[in-house]
Amino acid sequence: MKLPVHKIPTEFAESVPRGMRLISKGHHDFLLIESLFCANGHSLMDNSVRIHGEASIKLKIKSKKEEGVVFIDAFWGSYSKLFSYIPTVAKKNQLIDVLCPHCESLLIENGECTQKGCKSGKKIVLHLPGGNNRIHVCAKLGCPGHLLKISDMPDEITESVSDLNFFGAAGDDELFQGI
Ligand SMILES: [Zn+2]
Ligand SMILES: [Zn+2]
Repeated sequence: MKLPVHKIPTEFAESVPRGMRLISKGHHDFLLIESLFCANGHSLMDNSVRIHGEASIKLKIKSKKEEGVVFIDAFWGSYSKLFSYIPTVAKKNQLIDVLCPHCESLLIENGECTQKGCKSGKKIVLHLPGGNNRIHVCAKLGCPGHLLKISDMPDEITESVSDLNFFGAAGDDELFQGI
């Protein structure tokens, strides 16, 4: 699958937060997530499953009846993902539990989704290195809502990077919109 091309805001490119990296491919820059942790400090990166040539983000997911592991593309704004297991009962707009694959701590917190019209009330919280920077992803299946929270960067910059995800949004049949 081809990587979607996004224009990375200059202010962001000049001070990319720890745990993220800009990669040049051809004439374009892509933003890659390099390190991501659960609240207990376990790495969520998986070197054995690579998407677009890079380590993927491994999460455990649980619905009412089933559970499995999902591998998500670490390129920001991309939607590729490989399921080791697809929850057959999961329906669009359903809330799922997302856990650390190592300690099984719940990665879900209460919080409003940034996506207009979405009232999930739950978000997946992923930690970048350093303790203060996070990525929030809506926990509702099929919702592309997500937000980058960088403590020492103005909101308008992180918001413009968060918006990158909405270009080339995945089809309705996608179960989990990635980050
Ligand atoms: Zn953990
Ligand atoms: Zn949402």
